[in-house]
Amino acid sequence: MRTILHIDMNSYFATIEQQANPRWRGKPIGITGGDRSTRTVLSTASVEAKKLGAKTGMTLWEAKKVCPQIIIVPGDSDKYLHCTTRFLNILKDYTPYLEVFSIDEAFIQIESGGQSLESRVLDLIMLAQQIKQRIKDEIGEWVTCSVGVSYNKLMAKLASELQKPDGLVLISNQEEAIKVLDTVKLDDICGIGPRIKKRLFNLGIINFKKLRQVSKECLSASFKSYGEVLYNMARGIDHTPIKPFYEREEVKSVGHRHTIDHDTADSREIKQILLKLCEMVAFRLRQKELEAKTIHLWYRCSDHLEGVFLSNGTQKTLFEHSSEGLEIFNLAWEIFYQLWNGEKIRMIGVSVSNLRLNKPVNISWLPEEQKKKVIVKALDQINNKYGNFTLTRGSLLSSYPINRKPNSFLTDRRFKI
Ligand SMILES: [Mg+2]
Repeated sequence: MRTILHIDMNSYFATIEQQANPRWRGKPIGITGGDRSTRTVLSTASVEAKKLGAKTGMTLWEAKKVCPQIIIVPGDSDKYLHCTTRFLNILKDYTPYLEVFSIDEAFIQIESGGQSLESRVLDLIMLAQQIKQRIKDEIGEWVTCSVGVSYNKLMAKLASELQKPDGLVLISNQEEAIKVLDTVKLDDICGIGPRIKKRLFNLGIINFKKLRQVSKECLSASFKSYGEVLYNMARGIDHTPIKPFYEREEVKSVGHRHTIDHDTADSREIKQILLKLCEMVAFRLRQKELEAKTIHLWYRCSDHLEGVFLSNGTQKTLFEHSSEGLEIFNLAWEIFYQLWNGEKIRMIGVSVSNLRLNKPVNISWLPEEQKKKVIVKALDQINNKYGNFTLTRGSLLSSYPINRKPNSFLTDRRFKI
């Protein structure tokens, strides 16, 4: 039996800012994108702001409505990444079996020496407390984390969710796990999102108790291969291994999205934003020496503040792999135009997947294609030196700036530690 710890930093970006600026400690603060002039969304609310009703993902307008005294702080991704590196280096002292789950979350697997988790409960609690203390000592006294200890990743993650902030919860066996599962909502579990929850609800499955009454065959009929995952989840079973940081996950998709600072139904404006996003995606693909074949597009309407993502039928496949902005855009625009009913939109995003390495031998024999490659290469060299969009398409002149969100690097989950 394995022993897994899930360590989750509390209100991460906000506590880091409060650590750096003592005058913000104990006050409701909200972290946004770095660009002050655009209305963006809260990427993190501090513990104090959360108590007053502010939530991650709210627009500033919404956040100020529920919490007028909120202090808005532009995010600083370099600062957060720096702290994450320190956080991960602490964990690395305990085991090489460290999986970076996101910028503020990680799993570690602890050697059991052949003993069961139940017989080592006290040792494990001491270990978790030591990690929490080291984070305070080495990153900052204002920085807290919640630790979940259990026999697999699924239950360790759930355990860390149960007590926030500064929590420590241990779920030592399956019997306890089932007890806990019966007190939480379906989507409290990592792996059940709003869409799966809705489908389960439609089948009359409203909690884990009900889920356990459904047979594996029945779940597989509705959810295909995910049926077995759900069957296991309801019983606290999860065999997924820790993916150690040194076996870094391949980048599976590259994406960008943008929240517009007003609602718009102006197709020219939307086209310009989308082209810009596609150019950003293509640029990042080229930096990673990748090219993509499948294009996904999604957008959010202004009247759906909760964020209804249109995710059905929103992907298409290119004829050939590409890392060229205009090619990605042409297909993305095609998808958008099919979906769009002319309603006002607030947010639009594009991501590409089905990636492969862009080997230098993939040079096309078409002279036109070769020419394009030379131009794109020169463009990248100039933009790398003088900043994004120094040299760009005429159609993007006078478009407004799109800045990367402080946590946009999560899309490719790569960390240097
Ligand atoms: Mg967190």
